[in-house]
Amino acid sequence: MESMHIRTRFAPSPTGFIHLGNLRSALYPWAFARHNKGDFILRIEDTDLERSTQEAVDVIIEGMAWLGMDIDEGPIYQMQRIDRYREVIKQMLDAGLAYPCYMSEGELNHLRDQQMANKEKPRYNGLWRPESGKTLPPIPEGVLPVIRFKNPIGGSVIWNDAVKGQIEISNDELDDLIIARPDGTPTYNFCVVVDDLDMKITHVIRGDDHVNNTPRQINIMKALGGTPPIYAHLPTVLNDAGEKMSKRNGAMSVRDYQKAGYLPEAILNYLARLGWSHGDAEVFTKEQFVNWFDLESLGRSPAQHNPEKLLWLNHQYIQNADAAKLAEATKPFAHELGIDTEHGPDFVQVVGLLKDRANTLIEIAEGSRLFYLPAPQLTAEQIAANIPEAVVPALKDLIEAIKAAEPNKESYSAAFKQVLAKHQLKMPALAMPVRYGLFATTQTPAIDAVLVVLGKDEVINRLSRLA
Ligand code: GLU
Repeated sequence: MESMHIRTRFAPSPTGFIHLGNLRSALYPWAFARHNKGDFILRIEDTDLERSTQEAVDVIIEGMAWLGMDIDEGPIYQMQRIDRYREVIKQMLDAGLAYPCYMSEGELNHLRDQQMANKEKPRYNGLWRPESGKTLPPIPEGVLPVIRFKNPIGGSVIWNDAVKGQIEISNDELDDLIIARPDGTPTYNFCVVVDDLDMKITHVIRGDDHVNNTPRQINIMKALGGTPPIYAHLPTVLNDAGEKMSKRNGAMSVRDYQKAGYLPEAILNYLARLGWSHGDAEVFTKEQFVNWFDLESLGRSPAQHNPEKLLWLNHQYIQNADAAKLAEATKPFAHELGIDTEHGPDFVQVVGLLKDRANTLIEIAEGSRLFYLPAPQLTAEQIAANIPEAVVPALKDLIEAIKAAEPNKESYSAAFKQVLAKHQLKMPALAMPVRYGLFATTQTPAIDAVLVVLGKDEVINRLSRLA
């Protein structure tokens, strides 16, 4: 393996909803390529014209870019390679590796019914398969044939799956696969093989819903003179209720997570652990993940989506993030909420104050609102109810102490202590009226830090109206 230049691919079908589980299928081949200094290719399997949409392609490409999965080649669209598939089909026909089959759909259905009635597994019976000494039926007029691959007869296909171990499928289980439809369009399993060969893919890392396709793909690949890649089939990702993930049962797309205020680093870390582990490491950087990634540590049983864990990870990343970077990421959310972060306290400071307690960027944005509202206009009743007469002398002293203090947390904290001691008060007795006076609410972060962020002048203005 040392001498092999590793090439992996993510080959999504852009047919509808792209959930987190789908992107995990991109993450592992990406990480494997990066770990081995190889190449990572994005191939869009868009031959299902009815179900493929540009919207789904965009979601995939944006999602990968947002998570930082860079692509070395692609996106390569299968629809743009149709001529190449046709060329290979012609080569296979010429070489006797494939043949035209004129069995109509009606005949095929009839055959299937008969086989079912005899309790046999429905399969194509090889009627049009050329063999030496065999006379084929006369070609019916006006029928366009499908092209079938001449699957080997007897023996079996064996591969050593990097996740599932050795898998052996008897060739008798596999009938002659249709590789081109009557209108000449190539079929899915065939295109995958041509692409994996042309793109020199060394490792196919994909969902285990493709295990059944693998022996067929290996046979075609060998017929074309290619060496099959190493396959690693990943167990499914289940939702938190243990069902297959889908939009219908509440799966969210990457875009939804982005809009809900998740950080891409947290999502990447989370996805990495959905079916792969490195000891008991839970929080790690992208670089660590790439350094550690190997196929041996892929999980063998289905991974289960755990929204609480994702939220917890997001909190970890928010808490440890640089405040300036976090502020940049949070601004659009704040603006969305109508908060004018350009006027008022420094937004980086506000975010720095809120990040330790927030799980999402939306929570930070919501928490920041307080600092950008105009000074509250308190009614006499509100003042009477929240700022007891007995505290007013202490409040007056506090204003003076704040005026004299350095504009930092330590000095403001010392100012509080000194006033509390003089007036024989406990912290809440003074801090709650101060909070209320500043914001018309007592729900704020630590008061000394709040004073720093709001700014000395503003604090004194607001408090002076009360005492
Ligand atoms: N297009 C297939 C899918 O989205 C993947 C095929 C492959 O990875 O070989 O399920």
